[in-house]
Amino acid sequence: MVDFYFSNPHKLLRALHTELGERAVYDSVAHCTRCGCCQQACPSLLIKKQETFSPRGRNQMIRLLMEGKLNTRAHRLLLEEVINSCTLCGRCIQACAGKIPTAEHILELRRRLNLRALPAPLHRLLALRTSSPVWFSRLVRAALLARRTGIVKLLRLTGITRMKGLSWINRADDLLPAQTPELKKYLLNQKLSLESHNPTLVYLPSMEAEFLMPRLAADVLKTAAKKHRTLVWRNQSSGLFEYVYGDLRKSRLAVRRLIRRHEQTGNLPLLTDSADVFIFLRRAAQLFSGNKRWEEKARCFSRRVLFATDIMPQKSSVPDIKIPVRLDYSALFCREGEPFERAQKILKTLFKKNFVECLYTDADTPAFGYGFVRRNLAQETALQTVRSIAQTQAATVFTLSGLSALELNYWLKRFYPAAQADHVISLHG
Ligand code: SF4
Ligand code: SF4
Repeated sequence: MVDFYFSNPHKLLRALHTELGERAVYDSVAHCTRCGCCQQACPSLLIKKQETFSPRGRNQMIRLLMEGKLNTRAHRLLLEEVINSCTLCGRCIQACAGKIPTAEHILELRRRLNLRALPAPLHRLLALRTSSPVWFSRLVRAALLARRTGIVKLLRLTGITRMKGLSWINRADDLLPAQTPELKKYLLNQKLSLESHNPTLVYLPSMEAEFLMPRLAADVLKTAAKKHRTLVWRNQSSGLFEYVYGDLRKSRLAVRRLIRRHEQTGNLPLLTDSADVFIFLRRAAQLFSGNKRWEEKARCFSRRVLFATDIMPQKSSVPDIKIPVRLDYSALFCREGEPFERAQKILKTLFKKNFVECLYTDADTPAFGYGFVRRNLAQETALQTVRSIAQTQAATVFTLSGLSALELNYWLKRFYPAAQADHVISLHG
């Protein structure tokens, strides 16, 4: 294990908080019995059709690497492919009786190899959200303005956006909604406010709710208003980006900042509209394994984190949306647990026969970032979802994150326009 940890132990996790308790990363990897029960669930194996790209193959490779039986330099290209072709979907965890967190192992390997999955300019831009939120906000606004005024279209026509490292601009332009009003103005128009006197809830909007889909933030605030006075935290990073794409030390810093700020509120409940952020913050303590004080603080903090479905009341009247409806399992790391169960319960109660239950193996929209790096694989995996939606003839597909809804709408528009996707909170907005 010396080689694996040689780079910088602070850049890696000391232990994973798995569903079956705390485990050192090596133990967690070694617990894979190679039974193969997860094989059918893995979207990248379905496409690549090679054992190396199965959850079992990935775990074995990481184990050999940690035991020093695989040379990182000699196998660098293969390792990169093994890492980058994993969508981090977590379907394998759901299929595995031992709940082996393969997606987490992949992230650990990515950190060990210092791999930057995203194109450098996009990575730098997104990293600014934590290191310099004011600049991030300015740059995003400038980019949205460039889009509104047709500059992005011009860049696409001239072919500049086809250059290496810039092709993500085309994809972002295709995916993002045509109208992206500024959050504050949008909320004012809806008679909603970012501040509240004596708040009882803190809302941490996801990046999409803050910059790309203000309607999502408005839906959250309207739903919360039935029970809470809400304070909105703008320009506040959750640390998830660094956890997935970058440096664990920066992720820890971001979470520490978040916890400190949260303590100043007297530990009010903290609400997120993203299932990915919820899952990440609920396990924040694993970032601080070995540091008792911060581990305890993170545990207390995690208990106060809520997901959007926690503030959704059971509704008696069916909203005016196209039926049948279904719920898409699109979140990082994990495909089960509280957010899914609660969302499913709400939808089942509301739509009864018109709620189409789907197996987790039916549905999978690769996470937003994955589409930027692995466009071909992203298309193939998304098409599996679109096919499954078409088979069940669902007309509205609910997701647990705004980015998943954007991504899924992109594919639906192209291949099955009879259906559309929306965040589940829109039911009550
Ligand atoms: S990850 Fe779990 S289900 Fe998959 S091969 Fe290993 S033990 Fe079996
Ligand atoms: S996280 Fe998803 S893509 Fe990665 S190994 Fe597991 S099932 Fe396959």
